[in-house]
Formats: sequence, structure tokens, C-alpha cells
Amino acid sequence: RPRILSGMQPTEDSLQLGNYIGALRQWVSLQEAYDALYCVVDLHALTVNPDPERLRERTRRTAAQYLAGGVDPDRSALFVQSHVPQHAELSWVLSCQTGFGEAGRMTQFKDKSAKQGTDGTTVGLFTYPVLMAADILLYDAALVPVGEDQRQHLELTRDLAERLNARFGEGTAVVPEAHIVRSVAKIYDLQEPTAKMSKSSSNGKGVIWLLEDPKVAAKRIRSAATDSGTEIRYDPVGKPGVSNLLTIFSALTGRDVEAIAAEYDGRGYGHLKVDLADVVVEFLTPFQERANTYLADPAELDAVLARGAQKAREIAAGTLARIYERVGLLPVG
Ligand code: ATP
Ligand code: MG
Repeated sequence: RPRILSGMQPTEDSLQLGNYIGALRQWVSLQEAYDALYCVVDLHALTVNPDPERLRERTRRTAAQYLAGGVDPDRSALFVQSHVPQHAELSWVLSCQTGFGEAGRMTQFKDKSAKQGTDGTTVGLFTYPVLMAADILLYDAALVPVGEDQRQHLELTRDLAERLNARFGEGTAVVPEAHIVRSVAKIYDLQEPTAKMSKSSSNGKGVIWLLEDPKVAAKRIRSAATDSGTEIRYDPVGKPGVSNLLTIFSALTGRDVEAIAAEYDGRGYGHLKVDLADVVVEFLTPFQERANTYLADPAELDAVLARGAQKAREIAAGTLARIYERVGLLPVG
């Protein structure tokens, strides 16, 4: 079966709704047909210097949310990135294949570093996309399910794979495809509907957290920013706020966006928001029950992660040995 790999950063206690709709949900459906590996990318989270105790806690919480979202650890390998040392090792090789200017063109780095200034920005944040390329190439992944914001990093990964094949021979790396579901690839901030909803967005007021009190989430939906008109239609350019609510509504109910728009048009934004708030509560409540079950038994959760890492290391060791050999590193005698 073709292989897929994806991950999320344990940068907060909770994932946000865009992580679920844009990525986690795809992971769950893809694990049926693919040999899937899903990791909590804790080494990536180090780029923003988290508190050590919180990072550990957030790593477990992120894994619990993968499980609550439907990742099946008997089918897919669920693991923590730092438990597989080959990620950091391959990252070094790839960083020696990446142009400095090429890395400097990554827009996520420009956005995140602009907020922190040159001294607050780490070299790790700069080389983040190279580590991400290592995450993917290490497993010869054919497909990488991510949100729209990762498209440029995926392009870099593909360029690096092609470069390795050109320099060191075909078969050095598998060139992966991004799997981005256009309709849900970018969920927007509820208060600022032209910006991506993010775990680390500046104030967090427009974010729906998967583990927050559903009542608070409902309130945030009801106070989402919409434009001054009254018409309800799907028009991301003219009506970004309403369109974002329609996208979320559709994603969580499986109903068609146009059908939802037609049902609410003429009845005002209030009705749409009240009903969407209920939909969100109905989604969050059982999700949180499941997450809490996993969090209540950290030993069992750690055992699941250990099993996943074991499987991941077996694949990673083979790929790394192949690439080390191709680039000319001397094998242990
Ligand atoms: P951070 O602010 O810490 O970078 P994040 O919310 O961007 O957090 P990541 O851990 O960087 O989350 O990304 C995890 C996955 O979720 C990636 O595949 C990313 O593309 C996807 N994703 C993140 N935000 C959204 C969003 N608003 N809509 C759709 N997909 C998203
Ligand atoms: Mg991100």
C-alpha cells in the first residue's frame, strides 16, 4: 500500500478546528487505503522555545486528540517525532542540499519571524521546512495530507527529492504529492476572516479550540465577525466571514455548502450562527469525551506511542541508510 505521512505541532494544549477540518479528518479517511504514519512533531515545536514541562504535556495532549479524531493506532503508526532519531539526522543531510536563498523564500518563516524580530527568531525556525522535508522523505511517503498553508513547504520537499535523485541517482528519494482538499484547506479566524485560524495566532479570540468548554466555543461562533450585509451565500472574496461559517457548517454536517446557504438566506446571520454553534457543540462534546479517556491513562497512551515509534524507526532506519550510502557517508565497518 502507498505510504502517507503527516504531523502537527504540539504548540498549544489544544488543537484548533482548522487542524481538524483541514487535516486530521483527511488522515482518518486516508488510513483505510494507505499505510499511514502520523506523528506529533515535537522537534518542530522546539523552534519557538516552549517551556519543557508544557511541551511534554502538549505532546501527549496532541496525540490524544489524534486518537479522539479517529486515528486508529492498530492501523496507522502514531508516534512522537523525537522518538525516531532519523528525522534530525536526515534533516542535516537535506539542509546541505537546500539553498540559503531557497529557504529564505518560505513565506511562513517570513510571517512568523516578522513577529519576533531577528534576535527572537531562531535558526531552527528558518530550517523548519528542511526538517519537514526530512519527516516526509524518511518514509518514502507518496502522499502528504496537509492544509493550504503547507503547500510551499511541500513544494520544497518535492524539489529536494528531485535534487537528491538528480545528484545521487534515481531511487534516492520518493517525490511526494501534497493532498490538499480545496474546499476545507484553509479555515479562517472567526474574528479576522481573511487570516488563517492558527494555534499561535496573536489573540486567540477567533479560534475554536478542540478541547475548550463547548459553551465558550458556541459563544465564539455566535460572535463571529460577518460583513454588514444580510445575504447568505458562499462567496469567499465578497463575504469571507459568512463563507467561513458555511464551510465549517458543511464540514461538520456533511451537507452541501450551497444547500446550507439556501436554507439560511433571507433569515439573517443570527440564525446561521445559532445553529452552527449547536453543530459545533455536538461535535466537540463527544470529541472531548474521547480525548479525556485517552488522557486519563497516560501509561496506555505512552505505550501506543512507543509501538508507533518502533514501527516508524524500522522504516526510517532503512531509508536513512540508503540516503547516507548514496551521498557518500562511510558505513560502519
Ligand atoms: P501553529 O500556529 O503552531 O503553526 P497551526 O494551527 O498552524 O499551529 P500546525 O501544527 O502548524 O497548526 O499544522 C497542523 C496541520 O493543520 C497542517 O497540516 C496544517 O496545514 C493544518 N492547518 C493549520 N491551520 C489550518 C487551517 N486554518 N485550515 C486548514 N488546515 C489547517
Ligand atoms: Mg502552523
